[in-house]
Amino acid sequence: MIILKNISKRYPEGSGFRSVLEDITADIPETAFSVLLGPSGSGKSTLLNIISGIDLPTSGEIIINGQNLTNMNEKRRTLFRRTQIGIVFQFFNLLPTLSVIDNVILPMELNGTKSKHAKSLAQDLLDTVGLLDRQNTFPDRLSGGEQQRVSIARALASDPPIILADEPTGNLDSGNANQIMTLLSDLHIKFKKTLVVVTHRNDFIKLADKIFIVEDGQISERGDIS
Ligand code: ADP
Ligand code: MG
Repeated sequence: MIILKNISKRYPEGSGFRSVLEDITADIPETAFSVLLGPSGSGKSTLLNIISGIDLPTSGEIIINGQNLTNMNEKRRTLFRRTQIGIVFQFFNLLPTLSVIDNVILPMELNGTKSKHAKSLAQDLLDTVGLLDRQNTFPDRLSGGEQQRVSIARALASDPPIILADEPTGNLDSGNANQIMTLLSDLHIKFKKTLVVVTHRNDFIKLADKIFIVEDGQISERGDIS
């Protein structure tokens, strides 16, 4: 369970500040597939970055599986993220100097997984996303959809209970977007992880268990999913 308690986020602007999230409280259920919707600039990425501990709220608390992220120092938060959270970005964020398989191995290496074991796990994951035959190539040789599949394999690499994806299909054509959507939904069912996806895609929304709307600094739950 991800608990957001009275989260506010302000950014300094000019001589004052800009308020993005205003005292939001929400429970994101464990093992469910939740979608975050909302207009551009409404604070969806800000919220995901707060959930992942990349960013801190101005006030409020974030509690993940009983652990309070807001009380941790940066080092502990980073360690927490490495083991508990996998992130899928809109622009993939693969390391261009590492081969496909080394990109997937990296999070495991950081977590201290033995290299032989890490390699075989990475190969399993690349097989799962349909890219085992491309393991030794480099990210710039892959299409956008393929790069996103590698980044999904990387997000799963440390077997974190939570996967966060910020507009994972936002940079893909509709064919590739459909593939990524189906893949994320299938993997959610297969691995039973808590999945939180920011998206505008209606067909993605249909696959979700829960829908949250981020708008005007507030978060609300949308009841009907149809
Ligand atoms: P969304 O992902 O919903 O499009 P964001 O979370 O990226 O929205 O941004 C929400 C608002 O916060 C925007 O107005 C944006 O300009 C502002 N913002 C985001 N990051 C920063 C930052 N580091 N410094 C100042 N303002 C920011
Ligand atoms: Mg965003």
